[in-house]
Amino acid sequence: MPSKLTRFLALPFAFILTIAAMASGFSTLTYAQGAPEAEPEREILHINGDLYRFRQGRHSGVFLATPEGIIVVDPTFPEQAAWLKNQLDERFGLPVKYVIYSHTHNDHAGGGEVFADTAIFIGHENTRKNLQRPDDNAPLLPREQLWDANHDGMIQQSEAGGYIGVDQGEEAFARFDTDDNGSLSRAEIWAARFGGPTVRAPDIYYSEQAAITLGGKTVELHYTGRNHSDDMTVVLFPAERAIYTADFLTPNRLAWTVLDGGFLPDWVESLQQVEQLDFDTIVPAHESPGTKAQVSEQTRYMEDLYSAVSEGIAAGKSEQELVDSILMEDYSHVLEYEYSRAGNVSGAYEILISTPGEH
Ligand SMILES: [Zn+2]
Repeated sequence: MPSKLTRFLALPFAFILTIAAMASGFSTLTYAQGAPEAEPEREILHINGDLYRFRQGRHSGVFLATPEGIIVVDPTFPEQAAWLKNQLDERFGLPVKYVIYSHTHNDHAGGGEVFADTAIFIGHENTRKNLQRPDDNAPLLPREQLWDANHDGMIQQSEAGGYIGVDQGEEAFARFDTDDNGSLSRAEIWAARFGGPTVRAPDIYYSEQAAITLGGKTVELHYTGRNHSDDMTVVLFPAERAIYTADFLTPNRLAWTVLDGGFLPDWVESLQQVEQLDFDTIVPAHESPGTKAQVSEQTRYMEDLYSAVSEGIAAGKSEQELVDSILMEDYSHVLEYEYSRAGNVSGAYEILISTPGEH
C-alpha cells in the first residue's frame, strides 16, 4: 500500500505526467494508470442533447453547446483546455460564455485562462479562500499533523513513508519541496493541489444554488455540502437529465478519502443530497458515465464505510486493525476496489481521529 503522502501527491497534474511518462509499476496505483490502450488519449463524446464530455487520459470535463455559446465545466488543466478550445472553435465556431468549476483542485479547475476573453467564471464561495496561498508558517491541517511524527510542523520524506525515497517518490517529493529544504510546509502542500498559476479565480461566487441560462438552456449549480472538498459544485443539466460530479462521486469506482480535504460524515450527507436531484445519468470527472442506481450504490458505500470506521474507533481499534478487518465486500466488483478500500478505511480513520470535535 503506498504511503498517504505519495497517494496525496499523486493527484496534481504535473506529477501525473511525470509518473505516466515513467510507466513504472507504481503508476498502476494512481490516476496515471491511464485509460485502457484501446481508448484514444483525447476524445469528445456526445452524452445527449447539447451535452458533451471531453477527456484526456483519466481527466474529463463537460460542455453544453447552445446556439448562443458554450458552457464549459472544468477546463481541467492547461494542455487539455488549449486542445478543447481548438476543438470547440473547429466543431462549433461558438465562444465559451461560461466556465464553471467543480472545485478548486488544479487538475480540474486549471487551464481556464484560454477562455477568459469571452467567458465568465463561476465557483462556490469557498473557492475564494481555497485559492489563497497559506502563509509560509501556516500550521499543517489536522490530518497532516497525524503524519508529522517529529512534530516540527512540516512533512519530511521519512514521514511520507512508503514509496517516498525510492523511484519517483523522491522526485515527487522534490517537485513539491519548492524551497528545497527537505520538508513540505502547509503552503507547499497547498501549492501542489490548489490554485497556483493555472487556476483563474472565478468572477462570480455562489453559495447554495445558482442557475445559468444561455441559448434557451438552463444549467443548475448545486452545493451539497462538504465532501472531498468544501467547495464542491454538482452541475445539473435538466434537459439532458444529467449531472456532472468530480472526485467525491464516481460511479463504479470508490471515492478516495486520502486527501487532506475530506470531510466525514458530511460526505455521506452530501451524497444523500445528490440522490434527491432529478437526473438519470451521471457524467463524472474520472472513469465512465453511469446511472442514478450507481449513485445510490456510492451513497450506501460511504454510509457503510463511515459507520464501520466509527464503530471501530469507538471500540478502540487501530488504523491497521480497521484496514485489515473492514472489507466492504459488497463493493468488490467496482474498479480498483482493493486499493481504494484500504485507502478509504485508512483515510476515514484519519479524518475522524484528527477532527474529533466535528462528528
Ligand atoms: Zn479534487
